[in-house]
Amino acid sequence: MPVLAAYDKFNPMIRNRLQAVLGRIEAACTRSGRSAKEIELVLVSKQVDAGLIQEAYQTGIRDFGENRVQEWLAKRETLPRDIRWHMIGHLQTNKAKHVVGGVALIHSCDRLDLALELQKQAEKKGLTVQTLVQVNTSGEETKYGLSPAEVKKTVSEMCRFDRVKLGGLMTIGPFTSEESEIRKSFRTLREIRAELQNDFPSVDWHYLSMGMTNDFELAIEEGANCLRLGTAVFGARSKVEN
Ligand SMILES: *Cc1c(COP(=O)(O)O)cnc(C)c1O
Repeated sequence: MPVLAAYDKFNPMIRNRLQAVLGRIEAACTRSGRSAKEIELVLVSKQVDAGLIQEAYQTGIRDFGENRVQEWLAKRETLPRDIRWHMIGHLQTNKAKHVVGGVALIHSCDRLDLALELQKQAEKKGLTVQTLVQVNTSGEETKYGLSPAEVKKTVSEMCRFDRVKLGGLMTIGPFTSEESEIRKSFRTLREIRAELQNDFPSVDWHYLSMGMTNDFELAIEEGANCLRLGTAVFGARSKVEN
C-alpha cells in the first residue's frame, strides 16, 4: 500500500478519498487475516485529466493504470517521469511497440499473438517486458482474457518467449451484484494460479491483479494482491466504455 504524503489543505479531495480507500483496504485485510503490506494499489486514471493525476501523484501515488495507448502517450508527456504506468486494457497488436519499455507492467496479455509481438518488440529494443496473463474467469462474452481451460496450454507457449516475463494473473470480476458469483470468479483466478505454480515452477506467479471499485474488498478476501481502482478515488467517469 502506498504511504500518503502530509495533508494538503489546497487539494484535499483526492487525498481524502485515497485515505478512505486505504482504510477500507486495511479493514478487508484485517477481516481476512492478511497484511495490508501485501496489497499493491494501481490508480486507474483512464479518462482522468492530467491535473487530477498530478494531484494523486503529490499525495504519494506512483502507480497509475491506463487502458488506451493514445490517451496514455499524450498524458505521459505532461506528467512526472517516475510514474510507474500499468497497461490494464485490451492491447491491439500494432500498439504493443509503444508499451514495451514504457510501462512497468502490462496486466492484460490475453492471447498468444500479443505475447509474440511483445517478444519481438522487446527483442528489437533490447529489453524485457513484464506482463500478467488475463483470464476471463466469469465467462462473460464481452470480456477479454483466456478461458480457464486454455490457460495452461497458452502459458506453456508464452514461456518460450525469453523477453516476456510472466508475473501472475489478472481478471475482471463479473458484472453483477451477486456476491457469490464475484467471489467465485476471483477464487477461480487463485486456483488457476496454484495450478500454474505447480506446472511452471520457474515462473514467478506473484500477482493476482483483481478487484475494482465495486468489488475490491471481496477481491482482497479472495487473495488479491494488486487492486485496480479508478472511480473510488477519481469519481465517476463520463464516457461509457468497454
Ligand atoms: C476501468 C478499469 C478499472 C477501474 O474500474 P473502477 O470501477 O473505476 O475502479 C480496473 N480495471 C480495468 C481493466 C479497467 O478497465
